[in-house]
Parts: sequence; structure tokens; C-alpha cells
Amino acid sequence: MFEEIYSPVQKITFTPFNNLFVKRDDLIDPYISGNKWRKLKYILAKVEKEKKTHLVTFGGAYSNHLLATAAAASRSGLKSTAFVRGEEVKNEMLLLCSLFGMKLVFTDRESYRDKHTLFQQHFANDHQAYFIDEGGASAEAIIGCAELIKELAEPYDHIFCAAGTGTTAAGLLSGIQQNGLNTKLHIIPVLKGASFIKEEITKYTPLSHHLILHLDYHFGGYAKTTPELISFIKTFTAKTGLLLDPVYTSKMFYAIQDLAQQGIISEDESVLAIHTGGLIGLFGMKDKF
Ligand SMILES: *Cc1c(COP(=O)(O)O)cnc(C)c1O
Repeated sequence: MFEEIYSPVQKITFTPFNNLFVKRDDLIDPYISGNKWRKLKYILAKVEKEKKTHLVTFGGAYSNHLLATAAAASRSGLKSTAFVRGEEVKNEMLLLCSLFGMKLVFTDRESYRDKHTLFQQHFANDHQAYFIDEGGASAEAIIGCAELIKELAEPYDHIFCAAGTGTTAAGLLSGIQQNGLNTKLHIIPVLKGASFIKEEITKYTPLSHHLILHLDYHFGGYAKTTPELISFIKTFTAKTGLLLDPVYTSKMFYAIQDLAQQGIISEDESVLAIHTGGLIGLFGMKDKF
């Protein structure tokens, strides 16, 4: 299941750029999409090596990571359980998780904070259970995300990626460093006040001149949108044929356009945007459109 992927680089027409490319990680899989596939790849290899049979993980009620874990577990013949933050709800994402056989344990916000304690409380005696942190954050995830850089057939002046926890950003930075590239890595955190991302990255790889953090494209915070962002998504999709999600990839493409308008990146430089997937999340926000 983790052997071969389809994630082509496609050129898109989007003014003012002459050389804007998209790495279509959203095409890797409809449910184990984008960076979540890359993050799980080596986690699942470790699970297999350690002969564990039960994935236990954590996330919010709209987490792309939960859906990816549920889908990956069912295809690998593994059980899966998720601690879902907050009171019991029903939605499109959790429906899919349940269909893939994931057991959902709704957990109040207070208890949810201490994930290791939750795991101990429920699974101390289950030697088949394997702890996967929220969003898949781990050293294995870094290796998986770094591989994206090796897949690129040519160098780019700029690579853009949206960030939540920053694990994917750390993997990409590590890939750029390992391959000795001169590329600038522009990270767009979708949370407000996300300077913690630097610390997250340094857990895995040293900061270097490649990394540029853009902290002002969160649109109010995680999963927050504005009419301007929604209108941007509509125009972008109608013009390019690419779907974006309101939480991550739309904020990244908005930033790319805005930085070009400010002259911070020029229309003739080559830019690669990573489409990290997450399109099912669009359905949770249908009322905003
Ligand atoms: C999870 C996710 C991200 C953020 O990844 P991190 O490694 O947590 O920074 C970005 N885009 C999409 C579509 C995601 O689902």
C-alpha cells in the first residue's frame, strides 16, 4: 500500500505567475491524502516491524489525520481507535472513520490534553496497541515528508507548504538540507500565533536560511475563514480546476498570491506549491460558501 504513489507536478495558470507548479499530493489517495500519507508511511512500517495490530491516535472532530489513520488501518488489516477531542458529534469525517472501522472515543478537552495518560489508562495492558501522536507527529513522519523533495525532477526557487503542527514543514526542510538545495521553503501556519512552529521544527532538524515563516495568513486562526478567503477559493478553483480546502491549502495559495503582489516573490521565479490534500474537510464547511 505504501509502495508506489501518484503525485505529479503540474503547471498551473494563475496570474501573475509564469512558473507556478503544484505537487499533487492530494492525488495520492482520497482518504489517506497528501502529507498524511507521507507521515504514516514509516509509522506503519514500524507498526508492522513491531508486530502491533492496533493503531491508537488523537484528533479533533474534523481531523484529516483521523481519517487517514482509519483508512490506512483498514487496508492494512489493523484495528484503529481515536480519541476525539470534545463532546460527541456526528459529521462527514467521523462517518468515514467509522466506516473504516475506527472506534471513536469522545474525550473532554481537559483529559484530551494529556495524550500519554489517556493511552496508559486505556491501553496499558494491550501490547498490540501502538501510540500515534496527534497529526502523526514523529521522527518517522519527518523521514516520510522529506522524501517529497527527492521526488522533484528539477530545482525550484521557492517551495510553499501550509502548516498545522509543523511536522511536515520539518520534513521538507530536512529534505532540502539533505539534498543540498538552494530552495527557499515558505511555511504558512494556519494557526494564530504559530511561532511555536520553529521549536517544533528544531526537534527534528536545525533551522537554516532556507526556512521562511509567514505568520500573517491564518485568517483569524485554525479553521477560521473570512469572506475574502472564501471568495479566493471560488475564484481559484474556477480558474485552475484545482480544489482547495478552507483550512490549509487555500491559506497557502492566498499567501503565494499576496507575496507576489507585494513583490516578495517575482512572477518569473519558479514556485512549487505543495497540495497537501485534505479535501474532504471542504464538506464540513459547506455553510460558509
Ligand atoms: C494536516 C494537514 C496539514 C498540516 O500538516 P502539519 O504536519 O501538521 O503541519 C496541511 N495540509 C493539510 C491538507 C493537512 O491535512
